Amino acid sequence: MCKAQHYHKSVSSSFVIGNRLKKISSEFKEILDISSELAALLDSKVYLVGGVVRDLILEKDVFDLDIVVEGDAILVAKEVAQRIGGEFNKHHNFGTATVAFKDYKVDFATARTEKYLSLGSLPKVRPDSLIQDLSRRDFTINAMAISLNKPDYGKLIDSYNGLADLRKRLIRTLHPRSFLEDPTRILRAIRFEQRFRFIIEGDTFKLMKEAINSKALKLVNPHRLRDEIVLILKEPDPCRYIKRIKELEGFLFLDDKIKLDKRSFQFFLRLQRAVSHYQKKFKKHRTLQVWLMYLAGILIKLDPERMEKVFHDFGFRKGERIIIRSIKVGVNKIKRADKNIKAYLLHRLMSPYSFESILFFYAYYPRRSLRKNIENFLDKLIKIRLKTRGRDLKALNLRPFTLYSKALKKLLYVKIEKGLKTKKEELMELKYIFKNLVKSRR
Ligand code: ATP
Ligand code: MG
Repeated sequence: MCKAQHYHKSVSSSFVIGNRLKKISSEFKEILDISSELAALLDSKVYLVGGVVRDLILEKDVFDLDIVVEGDAILVAKEVAQRIGGEFNKHHNFGTATVAFKDYKVDFATARTEKYLSLGSLPKVRPDSLIQDLSRRDFTINAMAISLNKPDYGKLIDSYNGLADLRKRLIRTLHPRSFLEDPTRILRAIRFEQRFRFIIEGDTFKLMKEAINSKALKLVNPHRLRDEIVLILKEPDPCRYIKRIKELEGFLFLDDKIKLDKRSFQFFLRLQRAVSHYQKKFKKHRTLQVWLMYLAGILIKLDPERMEKVFHDFGFRKGERIIIRSIKVGVNKIKRADKNIKAYLLHRLMSPYSFESILFFYAYYPRRSLRKNIENFLDKLIKIRLKTRGRDLKALNLRPFTLYSKALKKLLYVKIEKGLKTKKEELMELKYIFKNLVKSRR
């Protein structure tokens, strides 16, 4: 396995990278140039590092920049923010700050070294050189830097032969203890393997399997695992990634009872299709949290108590928990929509659920009748709104107030069934509904 070979790359690769820097947008270039100038004034050195270097070489669009500073990163970031009129945010993490500017987010970090005192736990951190900073990184393709300093601006710093691995399409760790020191790298390796359709290099693959067999993921702080899982589920087409995790590691690190079988993967494929269908068809609805639907698909068969334990241990947010819980409860209730059902009953059945839940149901039950009903709901029923408001009831002097919300609900159902168009029609129906409600209370 490669130990750090601290040589800088040849002229030809510097040239390749120099050209890449010429192709980037003017805003991006401005941030880099200002960082470079300020660092020189502050007697520091700055480098573009990690995934952004990889993506520049792969000619992908980049929006999130990572800059490492040999010196005080927070000071550099603050000055850069001031110069370009960006928003400055200091983090709790060791020597890190972010500058947000237009569509770009630039993370500044003080070059540092990490020492792992026990496996899987967070390392002890102290400032160090760029070369040391690169040596703590996950894979060779993510351990390259580009100098932003005057004398060698644009030069690639590639101590671990990342460029060669990038060309060979290989994921390779920097040293044999990598997966044990930080087992989240198991999930990261799968993420990059699947995203770029690269291959996990032979020795790296063996080390990864060893770490998996020693149940290394069980040792990791669950919040860090959650972050990696969310990143995976946020990739386009996460189905392939889920399959690969199941193949190599399984989801036992989330809960021992999670079992994904052939049918689960058929469901994930349907989900993928449903989401792309939905996104084309219903462009105006808000953006979906697609990743949550996949997570729900992974957790759906767990007992409610076990599911709550996963939420708690991995620190999922309140809103996320609510959606997944409602999917779990809803998959059974929604079966009632699998027949000729009156429109207002369909509305009553579906309206408590989020878009995420409803599309989940759509994918979960491929039956035609149910799908037609769901489409009818999303296409038409969901858009039906009352023109009448509470204040209209008040203006009509209707009493008691306590019946208002019930009356409006009923009015909505009548509107759906009878296809009422105008407010006048609504108000006529409303008076009748209200009278009956008062009568039935007596
Ligand atoms: P993406 O394109 O998904 O953002 P990325 O490579 O930029 O991928 P990030 O999670 O944004 O990944 O991290 C930025 C960089 O920080 C990585 O390229 C890598 O150099 C380093 N890094 C991140 N997580 C780890 C880790 N667990 N161990 C070692 N290095 C890491
Ligand atoms: Mg990144």
